[in-house]
Amino acid sequence: RKVTGPQVRTALEYDTNPFTKQPYSKQYKTLLEARKKLPIYAQMDEFLKMFSEHQIIVIIGETGSGKTTQIPQLVAYSDLPHIKGKVVACTQPEHVAAMSVAKRVADELDVQLGRQVGYSIRFEDMTELGTTFLNYLTDDMLLREAMNDPTLERYSTIILDEVHQRTLATDILMSLLKNIARKRPDLKIIVMAATLNALKFQKYFNLRSDVKVPLFKVPRSTHPIEVFYTQEPEFDYVEAAIRTVLMIHRAEDQGDILLFLTGEEEIENACRKIKLEADDLLNQNPDSIGPLVCIPFYSSLPPQQQQRIFDSAPGPRTPNGPTGRKVVVSTNIAENSLTINGIVYVVDPGVSEQKVYNPRIRVESLLVSPISRASAQQRASHAGRTRSGKCFRLYTEKDFKNELEEGTFPEILRSNLSSTVLQLVKLGIKDLVRFDYIDVPAPEALMRALELLNYLAALDDDGNLTALGAIMAEFPLDPQLAKMLIVSPEFKCSNEMLTITAMMSVPNVWLRPNNQRREADAAKALLTVPDGDHLTLLNVYNQYVQNQYDKNWTWQHYLSQHALQQADNIRTQLKSIMERFDIDLISLSDEKKLYQNIRQALVCGFFMQVAHKEGDKGNYLTVKDNQVVALHPSCGLGTQPEWVIFNEFVLTTCPYILTVSEVHPEWLIEFSGNYFDLSSFPNGETKRALQRVVNKKAGKMGRNDGGANKQSSKKR
Ligand code: ADP
Ligand code: MG
Repeated sequence: RKVTGPQVRTALEYDTNPFTKQPYSKQYKTLLEARKKLPIYAQMDEFLKMFSEHQIIVIIGETGSGKTTQIPQLVAYSDLPHIKGKVVACTQPEHVAAMSVAKRVADELDVQLGRQVGYSIRFEDMTELGTTFLNYLTDDMLLREAMNDPTLERYSTIILDEVHQRTLATDILMSLLKNIARKRPDLKIIVMAATLNALKFQKYFNLRSDVKVPLFKVPRSTHPIEVFYTQEPEFDYVEAAIRTVLMIHRAEDQGDILLFLTGEEEIENACRKIKLEADDLLNQNPDSIGPLVCIPFYSSLPPQQQQRIFDSAPGPRTPNGPTGRKVVVSTNIAENSLTINGIVYVVDPGVSEQKVYNPRIRVESLLVSPISRASAQQRASHAGRTRSGKCFRLYTEKDFKNELEEGTFPEILRSNLSSTVLQLVKLGIKDLVRFDYIDVPAPEALMRALELLNYLAALDDDGNLTALGAIMAEFPLDPQLAKMLIVSPEFKCSNEMLTITAMMSVPNVWLRPNNQRREADAAKALLTVPDGDHLTLLNVYNQYVQNQYDKNWTWQHYLSQHALQQADNIRTQLKSIMERFDIDLISLSDEKKLYQNIRQALVCGFFMQVAHKEGDKGNYLTVKDNQVVALHPSCGLGTQPEWVIFNEFVLTTCPYILTVSEVHPEWLIEFSGNYFDLSSFPNGETKRALQRVVNKKAGKMGRNDGGANKQSSKKR
């Protein structure tokens, strides 16, 4: 039985909700009227016909055309998952988008979020088994699911959204789904993208030469957009952005503004400055300029605050005064996955924070980098959704044409692949080089990943998954973190490692408001453990629990309540995974010994992220890769120890290491002997220092027993 457009329209207009058997609410009718205006609504018949005739289809359409919210609902009307006991999945690269869209669609379907419509993101599962038939989930969550259910049996249709963003997980999912589609002719697949390189995806998904994957195009719905460039390159894009927003506020007609910046701190600072200036303007020109609200948006913001971007602009301050304006200052998230109604002006500085991986020095860092031309176009399109709009590009037209890359560089070509490789091996993929990637990653990046997983003993020397590796793959964590957590009972500190892992999985817990930096630093000093930042994180969490999760306590100590709550939630989730694999939760009462063991357990995971102090200028050199780094000012170590282990690497004015703890060289040799095998070391101060440790140990033991070290570290 094929479901047709007229049938769906009848169901939509019906008095009772087919999914809950309840009468529809008033809100349902209001939202339905808004849905009818979306371009996709007019193409319902065409879509349902194509969907019923093909196993795989590719959909392209501009942001705001209704792809993410409407297509999954139409699929639900067609698949009837609630009757057939199946689920419709729609993946999202960003967890914020998954949450926000699920909420919107639950409202549109007039059901409760978390019941018929839900979302799953890392560490949060808002679905109900047996009830949820439409699930918005992040791409990495679906990939995880595939590890345990290789044919994704519980789904009737899987919609991959935002594939043009080319995230690592979405790329791998495309390959997996292509393969599953051959084995499961009943599984339907929809691939959705915003930009026009659809042909690449269509070609990729052709399973047989005689059946072509059709393209479903949602027509443009945008109004004309005027694009402006700067005459000269801007040296300070933040300052230029603020200036432009205020210029629009002063001189342009009514309509909201969307400004793209790169990160939390930059966004908060810009919001404050814009607000101050706009208030001044308002006081000086109360008759000609309206009030302005500035709404920040980035992924670590608590969900209630994220929802604020959908609020309407403020009204006039006085009854006949000029009406107000809303300015949303957002990271890249607003570029693709979310559409805000009412935006007429877009300010685009041409940069975003992007993950860059350097396989030579094995570091992945976030760098502010130029966006692609496709991204710039995507950003501009937000201005034309309500009526004709304007986009102000804070770079020259020449740079746009000559300097920007054509499209987004796939993440798989610029990432650390260790997590992905571990998952692929767990999925039973033997030949990683010849796997059907949509874009093949650099062999060097694959080699580095295999090498790391081998050092971590997740893969044996032949590249087969070990028992340890199989458990590591079950943790939604980087392999190093998973390893450290799994071995921690041997060091009698698994309770503590669990806390530290949870704390390392949330964004920064420390608040440092601009006008209270000194107070914030003093508060932080009180909680700092001089032996290492990891121990400080542990201390913060323990104190938070001892103070009964008290809001005032976090406030007084300049800590983010939201981040701590998240850490607590992540801790609970990880704990249940540990219990599933019988990993004991142990603590030591002797604090000195405990602190030492914790750092030993850290070595088992992060032995590749060790730095050695060179000379006494405070410079460190990373082990083996010989990258010069310095301790970040936020680091709380009491001294400058000779050997440190670090978790993060940032490049600002110079390369810094963050989240640092002191380690002893004996531990490096004892717990990760195969990595610290001195014959593989470049000559230099670090090697000599390690050699001294080996010699000393050999002296004590009578002979150098390198082989035994190798064994013991493998077992761990
Ligand atoms: P697309 O995926 O094609 O970019 P969407 O389906 O995301 O389009 O959006 C369709 C419409 O739904 C847009 O007009 C958008 O403003 C609206 N919308 C989506 N999510 C929300 C939300 N959480 N709150 C209010 N409106 C929303
Ligand atoms: Mg979308």
